[in-house]
Amino acid sequence: DPRINSIRTKIRVVPNFPKQGIDFLDITTLLLDPKVFKNTIDMFVERYKNKNISVVAGIEARGFIFGPPIALAIGAKFVPLRKPRKLPGEVISEEYTLEYGSDCLEMHVGAVQHSDRALVVDDLVATGGTLCAAMNLLERAGAEVVECACVIELPALKGRERLNGKPLYILVEYH
Ligand code: IMP
Repeated sequence: DPRINSIRTKIRVVPNFPKQGIDFLDITTLLLDPKVFKNTIDMFVERYKNKNISVVAGIEARGFIFGPPIALAIGAKFVPLRKPRKLPGEVISEEYTLEYGSDCLEMHVGAVQHSDRALVVDDLVATGGTLCAAMNLLERAGAEVVECACVIELPALKGRERLNGKPLYILVEYH
């Protein structure tokens, strides 16, 4: 698909962010090109329309950029999965481990139902810990996770192996 290369070239690498020795992959440069941003959304929409997805769950913060346009286009509801103490209502929480320390995602109780078929959306998968926590939240609430979708995968970090066999769809691999 010729759209993939245009998406790849619009992703900026920022060295030493957020700390020394880390190459940060920045999708904000992709958002500056409306055609490439639209191509990105279109590729996900083409894959997920007609798959009976009833909920798109976006992970804070960049899953909030890609998730909602996909949800609107396929006629699904959008559910934000947020960092702790951001959601005002009753929540369920899922802690997960990072390279140093731990983090947590929260989802509103009542946002998804047992009959829901969910797609999890984020910008990037590294170790897979974040997607794993997101899937656990949805499954604890009774939803069926159909697939996870990210713009970028860092295959060296083997995030797929943490997804318990759940399919992961990505547009760009970064080696
Ligand atoms: P994981 O849990 O190790 O897979 O890390 C994925 C999470 O960290 C996602 O929510 C990403 O948005 C974020 N993340 C990690 N590295 C980068 C990066 O280089 N660019 C953008 N986001 C990143």
